[in-house]
Formats: sequence, C-alpha cells, structure tokens
Amino acid sequence: MSRPTIARVFPARLKHNAQRVREFAPGANIMACVKADGYGHGISTVATAIAEVVEGFAVACIEEALALREADVDKPVLLLEGPHSQTEVAEAVRHRFTLCLSEERQLKWLEAQRPEDRPAAWLKIDTGMHRLGFSCDQVPQSYARLRACLPNAVPVLCSHFARADEPEHPFTAEQTTAFDHTVASLEGPHSLANSAAILTRPDSHRDWVRPGYMLYGGSPFAARRADDFQLKATMEFCAEVISTREVAAGETVGYGGRWTAPRPSRIATIAAGYGDGYPRHAREGTPVLIEGRRLPLVGRVSMDMITVDVTEHAAVKTGSQAILWGEDPGIDEVAQGADTIGYELLAAMPRRVPRRPG
Ligand SMILES: *Cc1c(COP(=O)(O)O)cnc(C)c1O
Repeated sequence: MSRPTIARVFPARLKHNAQRVREFAPGANIMACVKADGYGHGISTVATAIAEVVEGFAVACIEEALALREADVDKPVLLLEGPHSQTEVAEAVRHRFTLCLSEERQLKWLEAQRPEDRPAAWLKIDTGMHRLGFSCDQVPQSYARLRACLPNAVPVLCSHFARADEPEHPFTAEQTTAFDHTVASLEGPHSLANSAAILTRPDSHRDWVRPGYMLYGGSPFAARRADDFQLKATMEFCAEVISTREVAAGETVGYGGRWTAPRPSRIATIAAGYGDGYPRHAREGTPVLIEGRRLPLVGRVSMDMITVDVTEHAAVKTGSQAILWGEDPGIDEVAQGADTIGYELLAAMPRRVPRRPG
C-alpha cells in the first residue's frame, strides 16, 4: 500500500471548463495555457482532456513544449517567453512550435535562421504590464522586421493584462486602448484575454483567448467564486486520517503550540503537509472536508501532516478520507486562508503527490 495522499484529476471537468471558455468567447480560438505542468495537473493529462475543444496550447519553456509533442499533441504550441537561445529557435522549427517574440535578441535569432528554417511567431506588445514585450513605440519597427523575416506568415499581435482580475479597475481598458492604437495599421490577428478577461471583458476576446486558471476550475477574482461561472474544480487533493486523539482543555497542538484547546477536544492527524503542497501559512480554521463535513484546521501545518479539530464530528476515525481542496473546500478558499492564490498552490504541488485520474 502506498501513502493515500493523492491528487485526483478529472478529465471530464477539464473538458467542461474548456467548453465554458468556448461559451464565453464563442468567436475566438482558444490557446490553452498548460505551463507549470498543466497548472500542476500533469501537462499530458490536461492536453489530452481538452484537445478536442481548443486550438492550441501555450507553455513557458521548450521542455514543456516537448512534453506536449511527446504526448502526441500536434496542435500549435506557443512558447510564451519565446526562445532563450539561437539553438532553441532551431529546435522550435524542428517541432513546429510557435514563438512569442518580445525582445530584440529574439528577432536577431530569427533573422539569423535560413529563411526556410524560421518558425511561426507572435509579436508581444507591452501595453502596461511592463514585464515582457516591445514597447508601443518600438512596435512598427519590430513588426516590419518580423514581416520581412516571415513574408508568408502574419504574426498574431498580443499583449497581457496586469489587472484584469480587478473587474472595476480602469487599467485593463487603458491597456486595450493602447493596444488598439499601436496595432491600428498592422495586419494580424489579436490576442489579449487571460481567464479574468475572458470572464468579464468581451471586448478583449478578439481572435485568440489564452485561458489558464479557469480551465482548472478556479476563479481569478478575489470576490467571485468559480461556481458563479459554472466552472468545475478539476483537482481533488485527498489524504487520510492516520490518527486521532483526545486533548484536554488548555493543551496545545503542533509546532510552537500555536493552537490551544479551548475545551476537551478530539484532534485528527492527516497525512498531508507543506511537503505535499498544502500551504504552510494556512490559517487556523481553514476548512478540511472529512466524512462530509467542513472541519477546522488547528495548529501549524507540518511538512507531512496537518491537524484538524474533529470534536464536533464523531464519525471521523482513523482511515477516514480528508479532502484538502476540490469541490468543497475550493482551492480559492484554501488559498485565501493562506494569503496566496490558487495558482500558486497548483503550480507548487510537488511530484510526491501522485496524480490519479478521477
Ligand atoms: C499564464 C498566462 C495566461 C493565462 O492566465 P490565467 O490568469 O491563468 O488565465 C495568459 N497569458 C499569458 C501571457 C500567460 O503567461
């Protein structure tokens, strides 16, 4: 028997969420973001589950792109950071990867390739995120060089929003205006929207949308739940109760004695900790679902275990299954209780937790 600490991944729910993207942005192609091992779900599992629904896959680096080809994905694969060297350009050509270009040196690498050995490309424009992309005033020149380099291919013109997860914030509209102004006289499809913009800004959908987090059933907004958008949690993080004990009022539980029992209490110990991706900074009271009830985390999170106050629920026993996140509690709720975002929890899930089809 192996340790029953696992992440169940539900292909049918991934597909459902991809179909929700289609419903929100019916006129757009879908470039599904599967970086960070498919947001921790397993890149080939995700790609296989949604291949029928989406038009392409976006990743951060060539290793992730190669993992897709190894999983027999033959749809377009976009490298969001573009190439990191001349060698990677050659490799991208070999595997038909699309390169998102955002730097002078990347253009030079493309120009240095033989004309028949040049990959498809997107052109990234910095409209205010100030992380990657050609600044708006550099774009006419970069665009002309790219067209000269790839005379038969029109590049997708793209940009990324910094604050789309704040639906009321004017910055997203400002970035959109800057983008439209910059590309007004340039030929090429547009791509702007991440999950937050797909869900709230139809004017940003354009030709290609780039959903990530919503595919995995999370909400990018602090104040809105994934349920509100009929998205389904695609991962269930499960572990087992491996011990229970009674503690007297006034006794403490766990490292540093952070939690003191206010009354005689029954404590369940669960075999998952920060070494499994459960956030170490989870607050007291963060819910864990055991035997059908949400019960409060108490005491500090250890590397391999957490402790839960199960005084109110006699059905909890050694061997009970605990759900750390999934449908309930949702990953966004657990993340908020740890002052982080579900994106980080998913991306940080270690290999120690086996992913199993659900
Ligand atoms: C990761 C990423 C996305 C997806 O963002 P979500 O908020 O997860 O939808 C879109 N575009 C780019 C450039 C990204 O890096």
